[in-house]
Amino acid sequence: VPGGNPQVKPELMVEHLKATGGKYVTRFPPEPNGFLHIGHAKAININFGLAKAHNGICNLRFDDTNPEAEEERYFTSIIEIVKWLGFTPSEITYSSTHFQHLYELAIELIKKDKAYICHCTGEQIQMHRGGPERGPRTACEHRGRPISESLELFEKMKNGGFEEGQAILRMKMDLENGNPQFWDLVAYRVLKTAHHRTGSEWIIYPTYDYTHCLVDSFENITHSLCTVEFMQSRASYYWLCDALEVYKPVQWEYGRLNVANTILSKRKIAELVNKKHVFDWDDPRLYTLPAIRRRGVPPQAINKFVHTLGVTKSDTVIEVSKLDSFIREYLDETAPRLMGVFNPIKVTLENLPEGHLEMLNVQNKPRDPSMGEHSIPFTRQVWIDGSDFREQDDEDFFRLAPGKTVGLLNVSCPITCTKVIKDESGKVVELIARYENAPGFKKPKTYIQWVAESPKHNSPVRLDEVRLFDRLFHHANPQDKKEVPGGYLSDVNVDSLSIEKGALVEIGLWDIMDRWAKSSETKTDYEAMRFQLTRIGYFCVDKEADLGDFKKPNASIKDTVKNIV
Ligand code: ATP
Ligand code: MG
Ligand code: MG
Repeated sequence: VPGGNPQVKPELMVEHLKATGGKYVTRFPPEPNGFLHIGHAKAININFGLAKAHNGICNLRFDDTNPEAEEERYFTSIIEIVKWLGFTPSEITYSSTHFQHLYELAIELIKKDKAYICHCTGEQIQMHRGGPERGPRTACEHRGRPISESLELFEKMKNGGFEEGQAILRMKMDLENGNPQFWDLVAYRVLKTAHHRTGSEWIIYPTYDYTHCLVDSFENITHSLCTVEFMQSRASYYWLCDALEVYKPVQWEYGRLNVANTILSKRKIAELVNKKHVFDWDDPRLYTLPAIRRRGVPPQAINKFVHTLGVTKSDTVIEVSKLDSFIREYLDETAPRLMGVFNPIKVTLENLPEGHLEMLNVQNKPRDPSMGEHSIPFTRQVWIDGSDFREQDDEDFFRLAPGKTVGLLNVSCPITCTKVIKDESGKVVELIARYENAPGFKKPKTYIQWVAESPKHNSPVRLDEVRLFDRLFHHANPQDKKEVPGGYLSDVNVDSLSIEKGALVEIGLWDIMDRWAKSSETKTDYEAMRFQLTRIGYFCVDKEADLGDFKKPNASIKDTVKNIV
């Protein structure tokens, strides 16, 4: 490791090697106090990736030492997301499993005169820490108390003799040290809150500073990888392992991944949810991993994106558009192309006979036979996208207009608009067009998508609702007070969700719906459910879509199909 490895006593190293067989062992250690976000995808990739690269193993460890913030749904979601990203933990472990062991070691630490019970309030601790205004750093009156007294008081703490805040166990470190991580960190506090795993068994809980290095040690982690804000904690991490004479892993830091145009802080996302700016934690406009997943983003794209960031110490701020390019690249290779139209306009091809039917084989991806093909009907009556027709023609407009010719994708001959039919209000309700099948007709410059009306083929698929997403915030740094003086809530893009009603899609979508219906109960196996609407964007079926009796003639898809990028 750059900077050198810490010295581990030979006899501890022998024990450690017996346990690991010399394997590289890492862990991904989330606190189960929220949903994971895009930044965690980097931590997951680094921990699992480095272990894999060295033929080692990686645990998923829940750092569950703060019962006040932890909830069952976070545990479940974190396990699911790690799996979704494609990683398999060697073991799923919990810091709370070690509460007894940690407690015993705390007694040992007191016995070594390296910890003491303190009754200072947070404010008093700050005072003693000193500073430009507060003067020199000083020890509090409890620091010098006899070992026996601290042992007794620790026992009393454990047995409920103190209320929250009345007593804490502090490590006796080095007040002369310039690193604040040596100023007698808190090891235990009283919390009269039930723990989701240990119930009411404990009313004292170990802190992160006390627990993290010891559990790393118990699990025989070789490389304890963490983000750069823990750089100063490295020395205190080693201090505690040495004080208790336990095996000491190597700590190594890497830069955090920060993403622009969004917000990852739990407190702020909670605010967005509570104030109904977004539907929930997995609203596709957010960058929590459950949200990204629901949006339909392929995990492969996230992993590839994170890989390009490397394992350096610098914190990076990345624009979400950078991630979008990885998503597009992946979807371009994997998502089948379908034709679909928004604001459909009916087009009748006047020179084709009633009941005209051709079945066309279309490739799922143009010029890539390996992706297969599917077949769609072509009939006398088709629908085109509202934006592909203009009554008022214009030199720069190359699609359909009165008297103008345009190609229909996948169809051999172009069409020319011969007549526009309107209702009483002047709204265009139908176009009459000529199918230009005379030999030698000139090839068109532009092709548009279309879907055929053919009840016999259940065509088209009628979509109740298509959700189109845009950025949730206007600015790159919505939390920056200079950029956004009104605060991030004032920066929410109220047009970030628009809903298209009544879109029509060709029947290739039935296959995708079929896979959706057959997929797991959670409807989150998105791989098979992503598709491209040609010339529009990438979409997937939402887990909460209501397909009803979707195989019936003229069935429609209720609720949601939504765009990915
Ligand atoms: P947050 O407060 O944003 O949820 P956290 O550090 O409290 O972050 P943890 O649950 O403690 O979240 O994170 C588990 C692991 O993921 C830790 O090792 C942490 O350093 C790492 N991690 C968290 N956020 C990022 C990020 N933005 N980039 C890289 N790694 C991260
Ligand atoms: Mg944390
Ligand atoms: Mg956290």
